[in-house]
Amino acid sequence: MRYAVLGTGIVGRTVAAKLVSLGHEVVIGTRDPAATLARTEPGETGVGPYAVWQASHPDVALAPFAGAAAAAEVLVNATGGRVSLDALAAADAAHLEGKVLLDIANPLDFSHGFPPSLDPVNTDSLGERIQRTFPGLRVVKSLNTMNCAVMVDPSRVAGEHHVFVSGEDAEAKKTVRELLYSFGWPESSVLDLGGIESARGTEMLLPVWLRLMGTLGHTDFNFHIQGAGGGGAWGGH
Ligand code: NAP
Repeated sequence: MRYAVLGTGIVGRTVAAKLVSLGHEVVIGTRDPAATLARTEPGETGVGPYAVWQASHPDVALAPFAGAAAAAEVLVNATGGRVSLDALAAADAAHLEGKVLLDIANPLDFSHGFPPSLDPVNTDSLGERIQRTFPGLRVVKSLNTMNCAVMVDPSRVAGEHHVFVSGEDAEAKKTVRELLYSFGWPESSVLDLGGIESARGTEMLLPVWLRLMGTLGHTDFNFHIQGAGGGGAWGGH
């Protein structure tokens, strides 16, 4: 499968490396490849320069958002949640039409320090905004409620724990479910919450997740839903 992973941060890199290890073709999308490769300082989140990572991952290509999206069958949104609409606009709606987008982003606003706020929140979500803005995209929100190392290696957290899926398109959710299984998620750990509106709830878990990170002092944890049984009422939809 050909993937475009939009985002050069730690999440984009981690997901891209996993996809390549599974035999997929991956292009990472960025605003300006030359500028991204020229950066020598760690980014705002402390992640090291992209060029250093790229040197150890020669199988992952780098392209402008539009070039990455054009060639892809499936897209992953790993951009900052407050700028995801800009990144997708740069990817060009024509390159998004009919494609599945796994949306991992959270609309966290750190402009007033920690803890961040969410925008949108309560009556809207980033997942919904993306779906409304790009109706031709088949948006599936998932993996946004855990650290990226856990996303691609759920065995980092002992015992059963859960990953949520939200979206309107049953086939798109099936595509994402299969991707999750290939990342090592057991079928019983994937909980389908229903339509994309349910992304409000998973995005609003972030304040809890961030507090837990502070309390526990590490990021190898995840939500376990006691009583979840075999995947919830929405089951395999
Ligand atoms: P990030 O630093 O949040 O985002 C980096 C990406 O955003 C880069 O590709 C950057 O483009 C792009 N970007 C920044 N400003 C932009 C603008 N004005 N227009 C278009 N694109 C812009 O990366 P991250 O830390 O890897 O997080 C990615 C997403 O995953 C976030 O939404 C985060 O909330 C979510 N998330 C993170 C984790 C985790 O483990 N860290 C877990 C769950 C969810 P350039 O490449 O051009 O610089």
